Amino acid sequence: MTHKMKYYSTNGKADRATLHEAVVKGLASDKGLFMPETIKRLPDAFFDGIQDLSFQEIAYKVADAFFGEDVPADTLKQIVYDTLSFDCPVVKVTDNIYSLELFHGPTLAFKDVGARFMARLLGYFIRQEGSRQVNVLVATSGDTGSAVANGFLGVEGIHVYVLYPKGKVSAIQECQFTTLGQNITALEVDGVFDDCQALVKNAFMDEELNRHMKLTSANSINVARFLPQAFYYFHAYAQMKRQGKADELVICVPSGNFGNITAGLFGKVMGLPVKRFIAANNANDIFYNYLQTGEYHPRASVQTIANAMDVGDPSNFARIYDLYKGSHAAIAAEISGATYTDRQIAQTVKDCYAQTGYLLDPHGACGFRALCEGLREGECGVFLETAHPAKFKSTVEGIIGEPVAVPEKLAAFMKGEKKSIPMSNRFEDFKAFLMKE
Ligand SMILES: *Cc1c(COP(=O)(O)O)cnc(C)c1O
Repeated sequence: MTHKMKYYSTNGKADRATLHEAVVKGLASDKGLFMPETIKRLPDAFFDGIQDLSFQEIAYKVADAFFGEDVPADTLKQIVYDTLSFDCPVVKVTDNIYSLELFHGPTLAFKDVGARFMARLLGYFIRQEGSRQVNVLVATSGDTGSAVANGFLGVEGIHVYVLYPKGKVSAIQECQFTTLGQNITALEVDGVFDDCQALVKNAFMDEELNRHMKLTSANSINVARFLPQAFYYFHAYAQMKRQGKADELVICVPSGNFGNITAGLFGKVMGLPVKRFIAANNANDIFYNYLQTGEYHPRASVQTIANAMDVGDPSNFARIYDLYKGSHAAIAAEISGATYTDRQIAQTVKDCYAQTGYLLDPHGACGFRALCEGLREGECGVFLETAHPAKFKSTVEGIIGEPVAVPEKLAAFMKGEKKSIPMSNRFEDFKAFLMKE
């Protein structure tokens, strides 16, 4: 641990930060997103033998490339192994399309991976410096809140505030962060997801508030949540390679705030042999339009049945732009786009279930459909099944006309008592609340 990794801001107007600073600050002082100054290429030997490694072994190698200079090896290994207490299997859906099931964690969505990793890393930093309480602010359109709240539940020295848009998350999602108690406070915001995200961003910029309490973010912008998402891209590749299906691999990512796909793009820079990526959008097609036109025009989000992707100004676009040095041609060469209406999403869930017996959730359905339509001769596709269909029970039941069984883990949340604090979408109100905490 001689040289520490430095993180720069995508806006280029903030001092470079250490990992510790980047994790605690979340967002750089110039409102940019942190980027690691080097992305290490993993040796060929690693890829040659990857099919014989376990998920945890693979993930530790990837984690070491990012965090090995900043966290002692045994601690980092422990964090990785504790984070990945569940598998992310690749499951065959059709001859050349596979589902990377990211829903086997505690809250049945991919965000468990990043959230569990971040909670453990932050816990390590706090223990190490014996610092005062850290407060995590997290805006959620559904699954982030549950993953972060559960990832941090009971972690000493950390309090979590979850901001979610009133009436815009499913009942099952809501109970996963409103029933926990302990160090978790849920705030029900009178507005949409973008309002929640704006409240959080404003809080980080407010000097008085930051003097009053130590704030950090756990949104997908935080490097400690964002980078670990690369782990399962490598694991997916290993599983496809084992089956002799990895030669022309296309990975399709249902995308909202674009953290998940960006982690995959980092994987490719590290040498992961992915041929190309597809970003599948719902009706919030800002990135899709960027690919077509070269112009990025954020808009207010519209509500869809794939609600965790209802994002009108995807934060991680800044990272993608930075990674490819602002070149639209380079971005469009690596990533193609797709966008689907609610009707198309529903039709896809229905048809896939009827034809293959595989039940998609509305987000994964965008990914599956984009592969059905976008794969070329000789290519094999893996889409990220980002959540379990039972998390969107009523939507999915309405589509297939059959009951969807709720896994025991999920049912357990629904038995708890909902506790949340109503909040307006005005920053003054949010600030006044926090100043009294
Ligand atoms: C968060 C989420 C997404 C979008 O992921 P991003 O990293 O924001 O692009 C997709 N599907 C589900 C189920 C999610 O929870």
